[in-house]
Order: sequence, then C-alpha cells, then structure tokens
Amino acid sequence: MLSKKVEEALNAQINAEMWSAYLYLSMAAYCHSIGKSGMAKWFEVQFKEEQDHAQILYNYIVQRNGHVTLRPIEAVPTEWASVLDVFESTLAHEQKVTALINELMALTTAEHDFATQSMLKWFIDEQVEEEDNAQTIIDNVRMIDGNGYGLYMLDKELGARTYTQAAPLAGSAD
Ligand code: MG
Repeated sequence: MLSKKVEEALNAQINAEMWSAYLYLSMAAYCHSIGKSGMAKWFEVQFKEEQDHAQILYNYIVQRNGHVTLRPIEAVPTEWASVLDVFESTLAHEQKVTALINELMALTTAEHDFATQSMLKWFIDEQVEEEDNAQTIIDNVRMIDGNGYGLYMLDKELGARTYTQAAPLAGSAD
C-alpha cells in the first residue's frame, strides 16, 4: 500500500516526466527550425523515452492500487540561442530531474517504502546515463567550435539514434 505522501510524490514525478517529454519535443522542433534534422531526431527519441518514464511510474502506481492523478503540463521554452545552448539546457534539465529522483528516494527511506525504492533504482541508473549523454554531446559541440563540417558530422551521428523501449516496460501490454 502506498502512503499518501509517496503517491503524491510519484504523481508529481509523472508530471515532471511528461514536462520533460514536452520540453524535448520542443527542442526537436527548434533543431528542425535551424536545419539540424539529425539532432531533431535525437530529441524525438528523447521525447519517447520521457513518455516511457511517465508510463513506468503510472504502471507502478496502478500495480500498488494507488490513484494516478494527471495534472496540467506547464508551458515549455520554444527557442534556444544555438546548438550548444540547447544541449546545455538538456544537461541542466537532467540535473534537476536527478535531484527530484534523489528527493523521491529520500522520501521512500523516511516512509520505509522499500518496494517503491526498489522501483526507483532504475531511475537512479537512468539519470547517470542521461547526464553522461548530454555532457558527451556538449563536449563534442565545444570541440567542433562552430566548424560547419564538424556540425554536419555530429548532426549525422545524432540522427542515427534509435528508440528502444525502457526495460521496465518490456513485456508489458503497452
Ligand atoms: Mg526522465
């Protein structure tokens, strides 16, 4: 049985993941607007992954006989200054999400909710990857330093990213 506090925090996290999905779709649209279709593809995959994150939390609340309550998704930015800016914003956002997941972990410790803690372990590992991915791209963009051919190659490389369903959803009906 989920405590009200944990249920509320998990519902808030669903909203944060959906906001992330919306943010990344907006970043994809920005990349298209500056002719970076490969980077746009990278963000479109990111968009799908964030929806998976929300779905994992949704499925878990349902499985624990809790009540999923969906709230409004706040507006997201629609413009960035450059390719570097959009990936720096990605890293800054993921660092915020990591802090939210850490808060959730701390709450489950306080509430002695070790089942929820076990479920959240996947998110802890996922955040390490999210931050690392964004940092690696930032390093590459800095190395290229505005060089047209470098940006062309990076756009091509990021466009090769493909979506894979998150492991906790594998085998579920959706
Ligand atoms: Mg996420």
